[in-house]
Amino acid sequence: MNYEESFKHFSKIESQEKSSWPDIRFAEYVENCQVCSRPMFEETYMIDGPASKKNQLQWGCLCIICALKSSPKIGWGRAQLYKNAGTYWQLIAGGPPVDDGI
Ligand SMILES: [Zn+2]
Repeated sequence: MNYEESFKHFSKIESQEKSSWPDIRFAEYVENCQVCSRPMFEETYMIDGPASKKNQLQWGCLCIICALKSSPKIGWGRAQLYKNAGTYWQLIAGGPPVDDGI
């Protein structure tokens, strides 16, 4: 699996997401992938999801390469996709169901 393939995978998820969560940011600015330690400041995406395929309870903040292996699917209760906004990570896919006002 290469970087380009991973990037395409998650940018497709971003483009297909119909909801948005303009007010949800990740609690901290994640600086390194918690699996491979890749520096995250140059990355476009960060995935908060299962860090291991065997143990789905073990979560982490992942780069797209690690996420494609252990957490390729984004969705509420499964994994969340964040985008780098320079000083924070903005939630862009897989967030909580948006209140439709009912
Ligand atoms: Zn990684």
